Amino acid sequence: MPCDMCGAESELLLAEIEGVRMQVCATCARFGKVLGKAPAGPSRVPVRPARPEPPEEPEWTIVADYAQRIRDRRESLGMKQEDLAKKLAEKESLVHKIEVGAFSPGLELARKIEKLLGITLLEKAAPGDAPSGVEKRGALTLGDIARLRKA
Ligand SMILES: [Zn+2]
Repeated sequence: MPCDMCGAESELLLAEIEGVRMQVCATCARFGKVLGKAPAGPSRVPVRPARPEPPEEPEWTIVADYAQRIRDRRESLGMKQEDLAKKLAEKESLVHKIEVGAFSPGLELARKIEKLLGITLLEKAAPGDAPSGVEKRGALTLGDIARLRKA
């Protein structure tokens, strides 16, 4: 039987690679966790397609125009900076700094302001927005392995 990954005809092992159970040759089995010998015969474990990349930890970023959003909303609610500061349990000077864009509130404070004012200050960074060339993943993905095998 051919290896599920590289197609090599050899004795197969049952291995879990990236969460997918496959019957692979000893070489490919090293990319995952070997569960044991592959069962002989036609009772093959169906090969599931490689699952999509696990979602990255969502990265929240503060919107670029947070200062304006906060100020506009606060003003439309008829609040003073002082009022907002009190509700946030922060200093008025901090609210001022935020509203002039001199201080970017952290995630926690931004969430508080969002709730308080009913506005959106945080957005999930789109995957494509991440600085390019930064590869967090250390292990080879199935796609990588497939590419390596084809090369
Ligand atoms: Zn193989």
